[in-house]
Amino acid sequence: MSGLKKLELDFLWEVSNSLAKVVDEACFVNELKAIFEKYLNVNNLRVFLWDEQSGSLRDFVKNWLVIEKNAQNEAVKKIFSNLKSNPDKEAFVLNNNILSYCLSMEMLENKFSQYLKAENNILYFLIRNDKDTLGVLELDFDEIINEVKKSDFLISLGIAVTQISAAVTNKILNNQMVININFLNVMKNIAKLIETQYELAYIIPLIGEMVDKFVVEHLIYIFMKDENADFKLVWPSDCSDEKILSILEHFNDSKSNIISPDLKAGVWAIKNQDKAIGAIAAGNSFDKLSQKDIEYISLLAKQASITIEKADSYATMLQYATLDALTGLNNRRQFEVRLNQEVATARRKKKPLCCIMTDIDYFKKVNDTYGHAAGDCVLKSVAKIIKAELREYDIASRYGGEEFCVLLPYTSLTEAEFVAQRLRSAVEKTQINISEIDKLNVTISVGVSCFDESMQTPQELYQRADSALYEAKKNGRNRVVVCQTPD
Ligand code: GH3
Ligand code: MG
Ligand code: MG
Repeated sequence: MSGLKKLELDFLWEVSNSLAKVVDEACFVNELKAIFEKYLNVNNLRVFLWDEQSGSLRDFVKNWLVIEKNAQNEAVKKIFSNLKSNPDKEAFVLNNNILSYCLSMEMLENKFSQYLKAENNILYFLIRNDKDTLGVLELDFDEIINEVKKSDFLISLGIAVTQISAAVTNKILNNQMVININFLNVMKNIAKLIETQYELAYIIPLIGEMVDKFVVEHLIYIFMKDENADFKLVWPSDCSDEKILSILEHFNDSKSNIISPDLKAGVWAIKNQDKAIGAIAAGNSFDKLSQKDIEYISLLAKQASITIEKADSYATMLQYATLDALTGLNNRRQFEVRLNQEVATARRKKKPLCCIMTDIDYFKKVNDTYGHAAGDCVLKSVAKIIKAELREYDIASRYGGEEFCVLLPYTSLTEAEFVAQRLRSAVEKTQINISEIDKLNVTISVGVSCFDESMQTPQELYQRADSALYEAKKNGRNRVVVCQTPD
């Protein structure tokens, strides 16, 4: 081997320099492309990685893109499959769709010029780590410059490919690590849900969203068994995946999961004391579930089972409690108790009684942008503001997730509207510290109603406030709407 010349050394220096500072796959390939173009007149450079699951080469940058099916690509795939298990082969040349030739580095040096005579040659180098052949580096030459034909440059190319292989291996490991960290975060967040919520109606969508965000390539669904022990979809609102629906028909308590034979759909049990009370399903009409996906979802389903099981026993326990754990306001159950009492008093004493329902505007965005811990912090703050703005004998409750309800005894509708405006404006004005550095403003929509004797049930009082709240949302949010009691 003769010593490398300045041009080749410059080339190698630029390659290693660019590999040292790569941020993502696209930047990785673009930087290399520019260097290869500059030194070797390469028209295009692509990196493909072998995907065991689909048995195809996938674009390194656009991971979801399976290499397009055409004669040339099929040939590459075939050669690659052969070379994958053949450690002394390093590269091959594909010429005019016909030639496929695999070469060791030594052979490459000898035969390269011979194969690169024709125009539009595509040269493939194998990307390897110590254990495995990961994929190929494709160099599409517009026209082969003389430098390339000289064996010295081939040596530099060989060295560059070794460096690229190491960088690709690193990137893959790094991506895997990021996935593992995300996975652990999802596990932790599902476990943490129980700290602030025990209502399944709120917990299940949150679990659905968390799993769905983690399992990017597949759509996630959550089913719960109804009173007839049939699986009913509870998140999201629609599932038309026939494979999943048919697996669910065969699901029973002895199973912890069923994966469809083509690996494109899977169902995992959500269990409570060894009985399937629900299921998490994943489906996709293109991608197969990998072994890793299956393992991850199995663990997430177990975590979801634990959370749901705990929520269930909390809910039973909290049925006897009166306060909401997160905000310290009355809980929903206590609200109902107080509603009945206050309506009875208003009826008996012929005194006015009003009801205010509030709902935080665009609260999902807070959770999505800043996380659920920040969402909880906002809930606490809004509860505190509401409490601070009320008289002592007003009854503030957390009605549900981010909905608060206030009963105002001895209060006319005009006064209640005034209080509602005060609440709305106090929330709007308050900057909420969701962390040491982040501050946030939220708004609430408010509905107000007043008890009248024609009401058939106490519940009608808050149902009317709720309809007014709905109007407030429809009319643009951050506003108060009063339900005018019919004459
Ligand atoms: P809108 O203005 O229409 O009310 O929009 P929105 O985003 O607030 O919509 P919606 O009222 O339907 O969303 C309520 C969200 O509140 C959904 C749920 O994820 C979240 N949530 C419910 N309970 C809790 C909780 O205890 N903690 C946190 N962080 N989020 C909760
Ligand atoms: Mg709501
Ligand atoms: Mg809301």
